[in-house]
Amino acid sequence: MSLSRRSFSATLAGAAALALKAQQPSSRKIGYCIIGLGRISMNEFMPGVEKSEHCRITGLVSGHPEKAQKMAAKYGVPATSIYSYEDFDRKMASNPEIDAVYVALPNSMHAEYTVRSAGAGKHVLCEKPMATSVAEAQQMIAACKSAGKKLMIAYRCQLEPNTLKAQQAARSGQIGRVELIDSSFGFTIAPGEWRLNKKLAGGGPLMDVGIYCLQACRIMSGEDPVEVDARWNVLDHDGRFAEVEENLVWSMRFPSGLLTTCNTSYGTNTGGWFRVYGSKGMIEMQPAFSYDGLKLQINGKEQTVEDHNPMQFAREADHFAECIRQDKAPKTAGEEGQTDLRIMEAIYRSCREQGPVKLA
Ligand code: NAD
Repeated sequence: MSLSRRSFSATLAGAAALALKAQQPSSRKIGYCIIGLGRISMNEFMPGVEKSEHCRITGLVSGHPEKAQKMAAKYGVPATSIYSYEDFDRKMASNPEIDAVYVALPNSMHAEYTVRSAGAGKHVLCEKPMATSVAEAQQMIAACKSAGKKLMIAYRCQLEPNTLKAQQAARSGQIGRVELIDSSFGFTIAPGEWRLNKKLAGGGPLMDVGIYCLQACRIMSGEDPVEVDARWNVLDHDGRFAEVEENLVWSMRFPSGLLTTCNTSYGTNTGGWFRVYGSKGMIEMQPAFSYDGLKLQINGKEQTVEDHNPMQFAREADHFAECIRQDKAPKTAGEEGQTDLRIMEAIYRSCREQGPVKLA
């Protein structure tokens, strides 16, 4: 009797150990709770998670119950894991199926939802721009650090194969010494967008799409600028640009002496591209920042790596999952987003003061 009780206990202990293992992020898919069911989450990130190797969607936060139920049915999320903005953090905290959140809300909400998610014990993948100020970025980094949770900013281009090939070419001397970089990203914005509301967006096209040009200069050069000079304007007085800039151009000087020029717009569609000019050739990506159909030329030769939507998002979700499982720092941690905000704050200051601004 005592023997069979002992073996029964051993079996129980074994089963408990297995159950515990099954729950550990190292041996199962990482569960994401999607915060904000808008265009980027529903059209791009969630299909990306579906194509990923190591992730699944296990929770939703939305203010629209019907939309949330539809998405829950599509991705197999239980009704009990649909939360409201008001109390998602309190309820999500006790859901072991949620390891991480994906914050895809208007820019000024990123900080609050990151801090609340970290407080609920979840890792945070936050959309760009990380926040609307350096001060908010600091709070987000501190909150994740004190909760022992990882924070990654969703800079999908930093994991994208064409961008990585261009970066390798720029940094390995394939085009000689890098002399100049220029980049542009703009589109014609429709009225009524939250992106035109300064309180929600933090700024205009610079915060939204100009940030890709800034990233391109930083990624290709491997340096951070020491000085910026910028100007902005509003040409279309049709009510859209009462709060944010319409067009913005800026130059940057880097520690090596490298000079770069960028522009961004909500008034015209510039595509999204960058060129790195070297002493012996040129790297061109056009389009450079889209979800699909990127094209890369190095020294006049087509070098494009085939890659289709939603793979940029699948890769991003998988990279963060790997960081969580292996306790590694994400390639684009909070500090990366904070650096961009520091530079963008200086660019806006340069616009206001109409003169160059030095970055310490
Ligand atoms: P969107 O307007 O399509 O979605 C915003 C979501 O936030 C919606 O679900 C909306 O209901 C919700 N929301 C909650 N409170 C809101 C409020 N007060 N006002 C407006 N919406 C509110 O926006 P989007 O294009 O999906 O952008 C969301 C975030 O993703 C932004 O930070 C944006 O910069 C970023 N983004 C990143 C990429 C990328 O390629 N990485 C592309 C597009 C957008």
